[in-house]
Amino acid sequence: MKESIRKILEELGIAEHNTGWSTGATAGRPGNELESFSPVDGQLIAATGLAPRDAYDALVETAQSAFEHWRTVPAPKRGEIVRQLGDALREKKTSLGTLVSYEMGKSLQEGLGEVQEMIDICDFAVGLSRQLYGLTMHSERPQHRMYEQWHPLGVVGIISAFNFPVAVWSWNAALALVCGNVCVWKPSEKTPLTAIACQTILAGVLAQNGAPEGMSCLLIGGREAGTWLSGDRRVALVSATGSTGMGKAVAQAVGGRLGKVLLELGGNNAIIVSQHADLDMAVIGAVFGAVGTAGQRCTSTRRLIVHESVYGQFRDRLVQAYGQLRIGDPLDEQNHVGPLIDRAAVSAYEAAIEACKEQGGRFVVVGGVLQGADFASGCYVQPCIAEVENGFEIVQHETFAPILYLIKYRTLEEAIQLQNDVPQGLSSAIMTQNLREAELFLSASGSDCGIANVNIGTSGAEIGGAFGGEKDTGGGRESGSDAWKAYMRRQTNTINYSTTLPLAQGIRFNV
Ligand code: NAD
Repeated sequence: MKESIRKILEELGIAEHNTGWSTGATAGRPGNELESFSPVDGQLIAATGLAPRDAYDALVETAQSAFEHWRTVPAPKRGEIVRQLGDALREKKTSLGTLVSYEMGKSLQEGLGEVQEMIDICDFAVGLSRQLYGLTMHSERPQHRMYEQWHPLGVVGIISAFNFPVAVWSWNAALALVCGNVCVWKPSEKTPLTAIACQTILAGVLAQNGAPEGMSCLLIGGREAGTWLSGDRRVALVSATGSTGMGKAVAQAVGGRLGKVLLELGGNNAIIVSQHADLDMAVIGAVFGAVGTAGQRCTSTRRLIVHESVYGQFRDRLVQAYGQLRIGDPLDEQNHVGPLIDRAAVSAYEAAIEACKEQGGRFVVVGGVLQGADFASGCYVQPCIAEVENGFEIVQHETFAPILYLIKYRTLEEAIQLQNDVPQGLSSAIMTQNLREAELFLSASGSDCGIANVNIGTSGAEIGGAFGGEKDTGGGRESGSDAWKAYMRRQTNTINYSTTLPLAQGIRFNV
């Protein structure tokens, strides 16, 4: 392992991970059943044990006892602990951001940005801890008062994907904690070390505050560990981020026991580039959206729907921009594009290119796997662009790689129909300076996605808004706005301070 990475692990207090990993609030065990290889250079960076079922059961019991205490702590005091988490993340931003970049493969800037997002959601959650408002209503009965209040749910299970290995956890955990819940986090098996780093940072904050064991638990494991959470009646809410296939399995398991789910699943995001677009802005938005994080964001731009009158010109500008892309080590800030997460992702990329060709796609920027000493992990690929029809089976599918599809349109109504005509409904955008076009795109007859932007690409989001999407994206909302309500249960209270017992709807009942 590189000396610089070893130093970062020391700064994060996790340099000993190779000798096994086990603390009271972490269900893993010494061992090396789960190995984490960096897609940057193919080096082994972590080897850890998988949590066995009995350790999982003990973990949830510890979490349940912690909840009994935590729900009695006033929400603003809970916010104070999340404030300290935000401060601890500020201190560790560079080391954690670098580890995210090294373990997951995104650029250093994006790794740092991911930690910044964690800090931002902590700040948001601190404010929220004084704003968990319920409504009051006027009762139809005299001398009665009606209001609602929001109570915590209990144990919140968090299942996360590899591509945002730390931010997704913080979106859930920061809100869940201020709402009075405790968390059990099952991170992606592809990025266990960044999860251990986060757990260590939060464990330090909790210990300093004398918080009980089990308020935030880490469950190291694969798909099976995720199924334990989904099937467990003790877990009140399962918040799952990942592929649509995973989300369907989780929804069925949690639905079968009538638990709560929050699903954040795959996207198939498009930008409409109108003849009224500022093409300079549109090129930057499209290229960043398509190749940022090597096309491995849920909000990555996968389709460009371009007006026929600017289509040729825009395609040529894209081809030119792709020619300037530097692909390589994401820790080197000169590079624009890093590796895919692993070789299985590379195979999926190659298979998608083949399928696209077979279905009639024409590549204007040709893809391929990069070879040579700088690409020794075997995970670096060339971002590519194909001209396609929206109806191709491969275009309807989310391939988690930098493959961009170009589609031509004539009228805005047709463009909106093409944009909506995929199973997923996460992020969408229109590039236009025409007010009528922008408003139609945002109207009820416009984009059917959870996120719809004007003159901003599809990729990325601020934490202040509710994040999530419709259809195969799962319907969940996380992060800002009133997404906190998913982590609480609503209770309606009616208080009678009169000396009689009038019934609602004027019903008479005499005994
Ligand atoms: P994945 O579905 O392979 O795995 C995600 C997580 O689910 C992992 O922790 C995995 O162990 C777990 N898991 C897998 N099968 C499970 C099951 N049957 N029951 C319970 N848990 C199970 O996804 P990935 O490859 O890690 O991530 C990429 C996918 O995530 C893409 O589809 C991307 O669009 C999506 N994603 C969505 C969002 C969003 O907010 N909408 C954010 C990030 C990623």
